[in-house]
Amino acid sequence: VRSQGIKRTKTVCTYCGVGCSFEVWTKGRHILKIEPTPEAPANGISTCVKGKFGWGHINSPDRLTRPLLRRDGVFVEVSWEEALEAVARGFGAVREKYGPDALGFIASSKCTNEEAYLMQKLARAVVGTNNVDNCSRYCQSPATQGLFRTVGYGGDSGSIADIAAADLVIIIGSNTAESHPVLATRVKRAQKLRGQKVIVADLRRHEMARRADLFLHPAPGTDFVWLAAVTKYIIDQGWEDKEFLAKRVKGWPEYVESLKDFTLTRAAAVTGISEVDLTRAAQMVHEAKRVCVLWAMGVTQHCGGSDTSTAISNLLLVTGNYGRPGTGAYPLRGHNNVQGTSDFGAMSAYYPGYERTEDPAVRRRYEVAWGVKLPEKPGLDNHEMVDAIHAGDLRAMYIIGEDMSLVDANANYVQQAFTKLDFMVVQDMFLSRTAEFADVVLPAAPSLEKEGTFTNTERRIQRLYRALEPLGESKPDWEIIQAVANRLGANWRYEHPGEIMAEAARLAPLFAGVRYDRLEGFRSLQWPVAEDGTDSPLLYTERFAFPDGQARLYPMQWVPPVTMPEEYDLHLNNGRLLEHFHEGNMTYQTEGLRHKVPGAFVEISRELAEERGIESGALVKLVSPFGEVVVRVLVTDRVRGRELYLPMNTATEAAVNYVTGSHTDRVTHTPAYKEIQVRMEVL
Ligand code: SF4
Repeated sequence: VRSQGIKRTKTVCTYCGVGCSFEVWTKGRHILKIEPTPEAPANGISTCVKGKFGWGHINSPDRLTRPLLRRDGVFVEVSWEEALEAVARGFGAVREKYGPDALGFIASSKCTNEEAYLMQKLARAVVGTNNVDNCSRYCQSPATQGLFRTVGYGGDSGSIADIAAADLVIIIGSNTAESHPVLATRVKRAQKLRGQKVIVADLRRHEMARRADLFLHPAPGTDFVWLAAVTKYIIDQGWEDKEFLAKRVKGWPEYVESLKDFTLTRAAAVTGISEVDLTRAAQMVHEAKRVCVLWAMGVTQHCGGSDTSTAISNLLLVTGNYGRPGTGAYPLRGHNNVQGTSDFGAMSAYYPGYERTEDPAVRRRYEVAWGVKLPEKPGLDNHEMVDAIHAGDLRAMYIIGEDMSLVDANANYVQQAFTKLDFMVVQDMFLSRTAEFADVVLPAAPSLEKEGTFTNTERRIQRLYRALEPLGESKPDWEIIQAVANRLGANWRYEHPGEIMAEAARLAPLFAGVRYDRLEGFRSLQWPVAEDGTDSPLLYTERFAFPDGQARLYPMQWVPPVTMPEEYDLHLNNGRLLEHFHEGNMTYQTEGLRHKVPGAFVEISRELAEERGIESGALVKLVSPFGEVVVRVLVTDRVRGRELYLPMNTATEAAVNYVTGSHTDRVTHTPAYKEIQVRMEVL
């Protein structure tokens, strides 16, 4: 192979939280083959269609290869020197006039852990603000919150491989077969080989729903209610794990009291799920020795996303389903590095390793290490930053790898905000919709062109190696962030991402033993990692992650989903497609994947099609109080009644966020993308 000029490089797929690793075979800039191997910890010899073929973006003619500077309203290509000078001038002027909190920083889950670490260091140590966040705010922060409340750590409680050991897998608000395909394959295999049982709760009858032993179809935004009712029924039958609760869990009386109104009768009335099915779900949980719950954005992207995630963890605690293989909580992360971007501190409220910025002892540790005085004022998250721009308080932004103007909810409001900024820098592979608002655009290199680590949904830190040189003058994000920091007065001298990880590991106890030599090749570590390199594939075997080692049952309080005026008579759901990734600007660069899903569509039910007299292919306008989008109809039996489904991956053609609103999860400000009503006009 080598004699033919073929290079084999280990990398990690960037497309979903499963975090498949494999070797990529390249010759020159051509990708010849993606080869998974048995050593790959999360996936073995599997990948899905995206990981195997979705690399057309690498050599795309749309790639940015030189920095762009806006002059007289148009972008012109400039040297790095000119671009960095403009960045320093722009940010410097805003900081001088309005102070450091007039700047906001957004990292992306396309960033490596090291890049997320540097982004928060730039914001805090160089500029002097805690206004830093990342796109996990858009998806999984509520799941993290639910786990923080109940068990202590915000990540998956076990490994992906453990899921095969479950007797019962409950999948809530997750189109697992399309969004986390290799993980879904493990469930399908365990169903076949071990008779593993599956309950799916979802608005759509997707592939896993069709394969489920029990499919629950709750009314939109009511998962909390059926979860509470099933848990109460289990307790009423005396089926709770009394020994586990007595030894390992606090808060029983208040929790049980909070459940008193969640009868099966009330739950059936609110959710539309029959009492028979609710009872059957409770019985299946009771009969299974090992139960795990997988959930995703169908749960989290609601005003009550944190509360429903908490309800899931409560159910697992009541039934003693933590700390053994095949049990536990699996909030499925979206991008591969949703987990790591937050882990390494690109969040307004946390330093790396989820230590709070308001804790003076933690702050002092970072001040000593970084040799600066750090900001005490709480920072703004993504959502608050947009409001702060409208209020005139936030005047400049640095956004990496996130097409925020299409992927944040209420896109019209976000785009209006960007027009009000004094100065904006976007760092991306492409001239995204967001980049069109920028003053300076910096060309970034994708995962195959850089080194670093990603952390997948099971807290597994894995190395990716450089398979190709960066295209043109593009650079890895960590190099660009360092260059920006140094222009703003820092003196950083990192020569390799391994040095950044070493610094993070010295400072954040969660990663104490993370070292690049321990991550060589296909080796990996699941946090927390002790100084001697011992990692934690399965959490909570002995203790929960609170100082006293006890888990907490969290009292339940339900707030119904938002309602809209009656004219908006259809519920609009959204999610992913197997073949595509997020706003689509990477995977739509691969011809084969583009042909699989050539254009945007909205799924509507047969009943609705009949009522409105339309067929597949009809053009419709979906209108909400926040905006409108034009899209073609696909009539399907995957959705029911007045519920619609618009995939989010065709954002450049028909972005669902032109109709979503600004309401958010009550605790974390994750947009309630799944709580939207529209009306449909046939064109
Ligand atoms: Fe694996 Fe997910 Fe990549 Fe598919 S998209 S190869 S399941 S990491």
